[in-house]
Amino acid sequence: MSELEQMEEKPTQRAVFEVIRSSEFDPEFAKVVASSGADEIVQCFQCGTCTGSCPMGRVSAIRTRQIIRMAVLGLKKVLATDELWHCTTCGTCYDRCPRDLKVTEAIVVMRMLAVREGHIPPNLARIVGYVYQYGHAVPINEEIRNLRKKLGLSELPPTTHSYPQALESVQKAMKATSIYETVVERGKPDRG
Ligand code: SF4
Ligand code: SF4
Repeated sequence: MSELEQMEEKPTQRAVFEVIRSSEFDPEFAKVVASSGADEIVQCFQCGTCTGSCPMGRVSAIRTRQIIRMAVLGLKKVLATDELWHCTTCGTCYDRCPRDLKVTEAIVVMRMLAVREGHIPPNLARIVGYVYQYGHAVPINEEIRNLRKKLGLSELPPTTHSYPQALESVQKAMKATSIYETVVERGKPDRG
């Protein structure tokens, strides 16, 4: 069997091409991303250094170069992708981009636009919900309580867990910035 035939036998090794229709281009979307502090991304020459450097690229489907390309082309569907949320905002792509483009900022801007449009990953909504309900992204559980006791610490940390009145301030702040209604109330899972 030739090398080509062997590759055809393995679908995972085949290149995947996606047809992009002209109706999918939204120049306004490209302008909004650019005018939100990431205007230089139009200078991206698609070298791929960001994708090659991205630590999350090794463990997830994120392809940074592709996200930037989609933004520059005005492909708004990038807002509905899970990959947008795989970025940890570590800044490696920004550090290494030969064009010194604000790649991380562009991703953050797109996330804000995604949330505004209701594309909110269920896990994000859940975490924000925890912060609202408990004052912690990871609320204390029985296991942690026991571990704290074993270490000679108070059962509850000196946070909103010990001071419920502080939780009221957290909730007030979240309501004042609309994060509660934007993320928690609208964050009903809209995809898988
Ligand atoms: S490293 Fe910079 S120039 Fe290269 S693809 Fe990424 S954003 Fe574009
Ligand atoms: S900031 Fe995000 S996209 Fe850039 S290298 Fe880090 S994880 Fe990857």
